[in-house]
Amino acid sequence: MRKRLAILGSTGSIGRQALDVVAAHPDRFEVVALAAGRWSTLFAEQVATWRPALAALEQPPEGATELPVGRLVTGPGALTRLVRETAAEFVLMAVAGRHGLCPTLAALEAGKTVALANKEALVMAGDLVMATSRTRGAAVLPVDSEHNAIWQCLRGEGRPDASAADVAALILTASGGAFRDLPLERLRAVTPAEALRHPTWQMGAKITVDSATLMNKGFEVIEASWLFGVPLERIRVLLHRESIVHSLVEFIDGSLKAQLAVPDMRLPIQYALSYPERWPCPVPRLDLAQLGRLTFAEVDPERFRCMYLALEAAARGQTYPAALSGADDAAVSLFLAGRLSFEQIPRVVEEVLARHVPHPAASLEAVLAAESWARRMCEEIAAGVAV
Ligand code: MG
Repeated sequence: MRKRLAILGSTGSIGRQALDVVAAHPDRFEVVALAAGRWSTLFAEQVATWRPALAALEQPPEGATELPVGRLVTGPGALTRLVRETAAEFVLMAVAGRHGLCPTLAALEAGKTVALANKEALVMAGDLVMATSRTRGAAVLPVDSEHNAIWQCLRGEGRPDASAADVAALILTASGGAFRDLPLERLRAVTPAEALRHPTWQMGAKITVDSATLMNKGFEVIEASWLFGVPLERIRVLLHRESIVHSLVEFIDGSLKAQLAVPDMRLPIQYALSYPERWPCPVPRLDLAQLGRLTFAEVDPERFRCMYLALEAAARGQTYPAALSGADDAAVSLFLAGRLSFEQIPRVVEEVLARHVPHPAASLEAVLAAESWARRMCEEIAAGVAV
């Protein structure tokens, strides 16, 4: 029987590549639902190609638009409605940003398997997401290359997760982003266009800037902690500019297991979709001899202040990570709009966190309130800062 699939965020980078994977295995999947933030010609094309029974757009199209779809739901909350109503048992969550949280929770509550590419759901509300996954018996499968690598490394270890005592550490790798080699004094003057030039990965604007500040890696440490049940102090980050080793697990006997592959998101996407099987994948093979060498280095705390802010917020717990996510989201938007300089991103985020009054992150309401408070506070602080 074909796996019935819902893809949320189908027009984004992950969504498009997921549809490539599905197209390469047409006998394995049925795309029964597609969703995006807003209407685009690409979305119309996807719907025309895949003819899903259900489609959703958070922002309805302007004017009457005919889509060859069984039913179209639109408006705020449309993505959450779609995951509740779709016949899909497998949901790929590739919506970027805070908008991914509610549909992720709704999918898990409905007992559906979630292949998770969205970061904010676990950063903002990791406790809620994983508790819902456990109580509903609905799996969360990591799509992000680092977590997917760790998941692959832990497979066959005979334990359900990495919280087992024989895992000494999880080691996430980081490319270092666009400014890994830029002299520190020049970081001040970098432009949004420069920040958007990632050395290895083609991604959305927000995550590309987060990769340049390494906030993204801080988020990934938080995600790894929730996904694999490993305390923060047993998660490390290594700078690895080649983006070939996607992450590692260190065991108590000193053995390291790593997953290596060319940097191509279609592979981790496919692994999440094919699990527990492996299928041929149309990505180029890794030629280690041609590559010659792989390099690793410690992360520079001065250059990558954002990552350490994320780790501090994670250690404080409660609604600090939700506030971190909101502050960073606003700060990156302000940077992209030319209203904040690159080096002001960590300063403003730090200031927001210093002002945050935490609450237990036990309810969706508390998490969303902290996130939106932090976004507003960030804009308020940034308004008083000269670029
Ligand atoms: Mg990643």
